[in-house]
Amino acid sequence: MKILNVENLNLGFDCENGFRQALWDVSFSLECGKILALVGESGCGKTISAMSILGLLPKKAQITSGVITFEGVDLLTLNNKSMQNIRGKKIALIPQDPMTSLNPLFTIGYQLLEVIKIHQSLSGELAYKKAIEALEAVQIPCAEERLNSYPHELSGGMKQRAIIAMALACNAEILIADEPTTALDVTIQAQIMDLIKNIKNEHNTAVLLITHDLALVREYADTVAVMYAGRIVESATAHEFFNNPCHPYSAALLNSIPGNRGKILETIAGQPPSIQQDISGCRFHPRCKFVMEHCLKDVPELSEVAPGHFCACFLDNNINP
Ligand code: SF4
Repeated sequence: MKILNVENLNLGFDCENGFRQALWDVSFSLECGKILALVGESGCGKTISAMSILGLLPKKAQITSGVITFEGVDLLTLNNKSMQNIRGKKIALIPQDPMTSLNPLFTIGYQLLEVIKIHQSLSGELAYKKAIEALEAVQIPCAEERLNSYPHELSGGMKQRAIIAMALACNAEILIADEPTTALDVTIQAQIMDLIKNIKNEHNTAVLLITHDLALVREYADTVAVMYAGRIVESATAHEFFNNPCHPYSAALLNSIPGNRGKILETIAGQPPSIQQDISGCRFHPRCKFVMEHCLKDVPELSEVAPGHFCACFLDNNINP
């Protein structure tokens, strides 16, 4: 069941040299009990898309059009107070750096209890019990003792578990995990991702996983949307994406990770464009080895190349790049 729809989101920034567009017609959906991976290089628009859902955009950002529907309501029409009721309670963020969400001056218990009091209207013993249960659910050992720990007394992995515990304590329906394991070492990465996966399965939570790590995507995602320079260029089920990538950028990404498709590792020439660069036609054309004349002036729209598989490219999509 679809729980959140982002439709034709257009967004830009007020810069010194005027308004610069950063997202073009971004559309995707989240489903209960599924992980959608939003994939792409740094600066492609993944995080700003997620921040649009949470209503946490920087001051200079401006949404010019689009709709973000959650439980039948367009989140973009809500005021700050209404969004505060949704943020944390129904839609929770697991950030890359847990210290951006944890206050170093307060204990984990204080912060967890605050969340439970605000979002569940529980207090006293009931709230305390709920806080311990939440820490136990994310496998934090000696949960009751940990309530008295300050964030700096926990490892990176434990801090990330504490954040996930806060989301759990609120029964969040959507988890937005923004590069949630980038700051962690490999074994802890797998534990945190397994935890997110278990929560998703047990609570039927919808997860938006923002990452540039295709190994994580292959292991955990149900569906994939690839972003390049502010546009979604391909979306499909994870199985279809890894077996039959249609967009040259997707294929290049897959060819640049070790052990994939039995091919020699490749690099993608050039850099993604900055927001200041004007690029006509397909925004990938300066880096595309299949570029054709009309790619320089026409913008390819997303079209369905197989059931549920969409790609924005002028190549004949029967040709797997
Ligand atoms: Fe390459 Fe043209 Fe396809 Fe863009 S539209 S990815 S430039 S072939």
